[in-house]
Amino acid sequence: MLLLFGTTRLLGRGTTLLRDPVKRICVNMSSTSASGKRLRVLVDMDGVLADFEGGFLKKYRARYPSEPYITLDDRRGFWVSTQYGRLRSDLCEKAISIWESKDFFIELEPLPGGVEAVKEMAKMDNTDVFICTSPIKQYKHCPYEKYAWVEKHLGHDFLEQVILTRDKTLITGDILIDDKPDILGVEPKPTWEHILFTACHNEHQPTSPSQRRLLSWSDDWRAILDSKRQ
Ligand SMILES: [Mg+2]
Repeated sequence: MLLLFGTTRLLGRGTTLLRDPVKRICVNMSSTSASGKRLRVLVDMDGVLADFEGGFLKKYRARYPSEPYITLDDRRGFWVSTQYGRLRSDLCEKAISIWESKDFFIELEPLPGGVEAVKEMAKMDNTDVFICTSPIKQYKHCPYEKYAWVEKHLGHDFLEQVILTRDKTLITGDILIDDKPDILGVEPKPTWEHILFTACHNEHQPTSPSQRRLLSWSDDWRAILDSKRQ
């Protein structure tokens, strides 16, 4: 009797809890897909919207003024810490200490044209834009500061468009604009086409014929979006 009562209560609560979310999902679906296919653009943050490389070098040189450093022209490979570690093994940890420090992410300067492009995309018809970014695993400052950066440069309402994930292959979208050459995860066939955003660390790297690049935000990102519209 007690068991039956408990089950009924659980079922009762379950149905009332379900009703609202289902309704909300239906409302969202009708408002986002009323005209058929909407374009979903995922935009990376570090190296695409925020100047990670420039911010890193500035703070590294200020903190370790007598240590060797790598100019942006000489940067090769995605991982800053790997290249610094090759320069001298202890510099790997020194590099990591920079982006693990408080105020590193919030103080990154916007890359030219990025914030403006994202704002323009968000206003386009049949277009949904999300910022898709991977926080570092040392989570004391980074996730908070990524949200704070978006609020500072794109406004409070844009926080609705932020996706923090360590695995971007799980996120569905039509396009992912990202400066990391290899974006891997548990999903072997992500739905998005990866548009490689050119950065100091990848500009010398040969890309496969099928991979498209966006050279900067002055490049024709609108044409890339249009090419994906049905
Ligand atoms: Mg990036």
